Amino acid sequence: MRKPILIGNWKMHKTVEQARAYAGTLIPLISKISATDIVLAPPFTALSVVAESIKTTPIGLAGQDVHWEPHGAFTGEISPIMLADHGCQAVIIGHSERRRIFYEDNTAIRQKIKAALEHNLTAILCLGETQEERDTGKTSNVLSHQLESALDGTNLINPTQLIIAYEPIWAIGCGTPATPSQANDAHEHLRKHLSSLLCPVDAESIRIIYGGSITAENINALMSMPHVDGGLVGGACLDPANFAIIVNSAVK
Ligand code: PEP
Repeated sequence: MRKPILIGNWKMHKTVEQARAYAGTLIPLISKISATDIVLAPPFTALSVVAESIKTTPIGLAGQDVHWEPHGAFTGEISPIMLADHGCQAVIIGHSERRRIFYEDNTAIRQKIKAALEHNLTAILCLGETQEERDTGKTSNVLSHQLESALDGTNLINPTQLIIAYEPIWAIGCGTPATPSQANDAHEHLRKHLSSLLCPVDAESIRIIYGGSITAENINALMSMPHVDGGLVGGACLDPANFAIIVNSAVK
């Protein structure tokens, strides 16, 4: 049985003070939830204040990106050691905004996955197809290729150290999510492919979550799908009261 998980990706939003206020509002609103894992992914500058605010709660903390080297001359980058030092247990890797705007390729993503796992961070691997790829029937091949390439050569000792986030690019930030059955089909495909790459027991226990225009209104229908284990929420997580409604509605 896979425990549902909801991850709030703040992207490039919120100052330290706003982050502190966010946590202060969210924590009491979700204090009764134990059947769902909840993770916040603030920007690097707010990690410490959020870590401090959530330290007595079960809420997890994730970075939004990571460099693959532990330290060195990499101006502007943050290492897995630094994320852990700021209280992170997880990190988002390969978000479509990083692939598209910052030209991150599959090689970089593979290196980041390896580095995260080596430093005991849970890797939240994002993948998904473009509208054109979907329209031309390439979705399954694109997902298989992204998955295989990201995991090539990784040594996954514990399957809970990996979370796959299916994020169709055409559904992100536009208010038009994938339908529950589109999400379910993609997740089922990914799980089948995972079981050809790993042992089937591990593939069964890895959580595959959906991201792309999740709202308080659509989360329930998405979560009712057998292959949807949770959500990666962008815009709709920025208001803590709204994120709390999503988390409270995300029952399995
Ligand atoms: C995202 O960017 O990961 C995301 C899912 O964004 P949104 O929820 O705003 O579509």
